[in-house]
Amino acid sequence: MEFSLNAEYLKRTRDPRVRRTPSECLQICHAAGFRTVSYFPDFASDAWEEEVNAVVQASDVWGMSLDQVHAPYNFYAHQPLAVFHERLRRSIVAAKRMNASYLVFHADEYHPLPGEAYDAEIALRTVYEIFAPHIENALRMGVTPVFENTFEDHHRVSVRERSHFCAELSELIAVMDRFADPRIGCCWDFGHGKLAMETDERHADAIRTMGKRIVCTHIHDNYYKKDLHLPPFMGEANWELLMKAVKEIGYGGNLTFELGYSTMEESLVADFMKNLYRTAGILKEMMDG
Ligand SMILES: [Zn+2]
Repeated sequence: MEFSLNAEYLKRTRDPRVRRTPSECLQICHAAGFRTVSYFPDFASDAWEEEVNAVVQASDVWGMSLDQVHAPYNFYAHQPLAVFHERLRRSIVAAKRMNASYLVFHADEYHPLPGEAYDAEIALRTVYEIFAPHIENALRMGVTPVFENTFEDHHRVSVRERSHFCAELSELIAVMDRFADPRIGCCWDFGHGKLAMETDERHADAIRTMGKRIVCTHIHDNYYKKDLHLPPFMGEANWELLMKAVKEIGYGGNLTFELGYSTMEESLVADFMKNLYRTAGILKEMMDG
């Protein structure tokens, strides 16, 4: 089991004009103790290949491996389908070049037509049609696809209606079963799990239900029912309970943080990252304990 985080989180600095290079991001992770990172390149950029190459080069320099690449998602972006397909294609090329263990997909690309009700069967069909060629392509290239749990946020619908496929566990399982390939696993996102389940107990039960399907993780915390992507212990999740469930399923994959929207002040970055590495160690102790 290794500790990891989405290193592209470090690209942004407090100065909007200044971005860290992949090499600088990985160097900071390395100095904090991490030997594995995830990376989500900007697949919307024309320079995506340069970014991927820079990550590969940096991982060689710092002797680090890549555990995950995140595939693009279009649920909120509403880009034309052709644009989304091209970005998905890029992500598979990137995962291959980066020799990443997993390529993480959100299988939620379904919006009910105006005036029509949410329909989980149509959603499954829609998602399968969009992703099938890419999943097939990834597997052919030796890239392992995984599907991530989402949460209901009533995007573009009233609060009484459903909008977000794979927020229900049965939907995520249906997607995995529809693709029916033993290589395909689940990336369990703890922040999304917290939002989708009403209580920590239900969240822990969901982890037990997914069991061996879970092969990798997105670890983050939140409060006020918002997807805040905070480090553990900065939100309301009961990590003691969740890590116990993770132990019960015999999970042996990595503990991978997925941080989001904050930008740490420059002089705090190194200590913040070291603390994050220690946090992973504490989660591991909770698992082992
Ligand atoms: Zn995630």
